[in-house]
Amino acid sequence: MNPGYLILHPATDQPLPEISPLLARLVETGLIGQVVPDTPDCFRAGADFLQRLTFLGCSPNLPLDTDQHPGEALCTIRLLGPFPSAVLITGENCRPPRCRACRHPLPDWRSQIGTANSGIRCPGCGRESGLRDLDWRQMGGVARLFIAISQVFPGEAVPTAGLMQTLRQEGSEWGYFYVQQPRIWPKGAEMPGF
Ligand SMILES: [Zn+2]
Repeated sequence: MNPGYLILHPATDQPLPEISPLLARLVETGLIGQVVPDTPDCFRAGADFLQRLTFLGCSPNLPLDTDQHPGEALCTIRLLGPFPSAVLITGENCRPPRCRACRHPLPDWRSQIGTANSGIRCPGCGRESGLRDLDWRQMGGVARLFIAISQVFPGEAVPTAGLMQTLRQEGSEWGYFYVQQPRIWPKGAEMPGF
């Protein structure tokens, strides 16, 4: 069973990086390796994958290759997007996001997404925030492009400063979050095959 995903994404709405150079840099720096056959934009871990992430706690035991982990689903690194407009990816059972102005949680954000064109109204201070402006507490993110790394428990690994630098070479700062059962909003958006 896949314990979850570490998902990286541009954290601002600046123009997206060009995909081909971005992938080339991730190959060069060893995060991604061979293409997974028959799966679009999906890669096996590269030679320096374990050096591009910092693992917290006990030593990592990610299923990176079939020699060490026969019969198991292997860790993959998958590009999701670019989507035509920004989407939210978060977990099925994630805790609610918080208002950045007053820190109040917004437990009914799902129902508000369905109704409001404006924003999500905070029950604490009344401020309306767009999805991107809420604090998803590293359990969700809003972007047009994501890089999802599978087989990572929530909080188990964080990207190194070097990986974040590689990602931001084309301009935008990047962020990251963790999900276990990914869901996408708006609901009509095409869900990539995780
Ligand atoms: Zn508030």
